[in-house]
Amino acid sequence: MSAGARHERLLEAARETRGFMPDEEGLALALVAERSTLAGFSSVVEVGSYCGRSTLYLASGIARALSLGAASAVVFSVDHHHGSEENQAGFEHHDDTLVNRETGRMDTLPLFRRAVEKAGAEDLVIAVVGDSPTIAARWKADAGLVFIDGGHGEAPAWADYRGWAPHVCEGGWLAIHDVFADPADGGRPPFEIYKRALSSGEFEEEPGAQTGSLRVLRRRSGSASRSSPHGSDPSTNS
Ligand code: SAH
Ligand code: MG
Repeated sequence: MSAGARHERLLEAARETRGFMPDEEGLALALVAERSTLAGFSSVVEVGSYCGRSTLYLASGIARALSLGAASAVVFSVDHHHGSEENQAGFEHHDDTLVNRETGRMDTLPLFRRAVEKAGAEDLVIAVVGDSPTIAARWKADAGLVFIDGGHGEAPAWADYRGWAPHVCEGGWLAIHDVFADPADGGRPPFEIYKRALSSGEFEEEPGAQTGSLRVLRRRSGSASRSSPHGSDPSTNS
């Protein structure tokens, strides 16, 4: 591993890891994770780990904040590791080397684990393995940053938005990847959930953070987090 600050080594590791995060957008993502950690939030949630590329950008941001004196924080990276619809055989984003020969199913967990280990980031990254909406519905840790980059079909993108946006703390950030205003550039669901987050009145655009297809929103003060997707919050009786 090269010399230099830890956050820089983690950026190098991210760049060497397979995935769908361009460097410029990864750097913007790292900056949000750094701000979240500097603000005192102790967790970041990522939906869509794949092989760990965006995860290591997030870990780099946390590491930078720690080097500046922030209290400890981690990224919980959620994925069932069997790939999205768009990662399956026959689709544009399929990588045949990720198919487990015994089961015939995609399995990115071994690569993810290895990438985090190789980067020396096991203290900053926690793999949460399973179905994203099922986990979101039971999740209790507030997040300073939720990064949504899971399945991009209509059902998975909306389930991720409904399940995870409520976990963003007041003053925390919601980042969404693959948001394309022009349908010619990419599918609609990430754009639609981004629009919904804005029109909900709970989030506002974070100035200066929009990079490529990465959109970064911040939860307005006074807007309740953790409201249930069914309209009432079961954790409060008032
Ligand atoms: N963030 C990664 C890319 C993520 S690809 C990067 O930038 O490199 C999208 C991932 O979402 C896939 O690994 C897929 O397995 C995962 N995914 C899709 N639907 C899911 C679901 N319902 N639960 C958990 N993970 C899911
Ligand atoms: Mg993406």
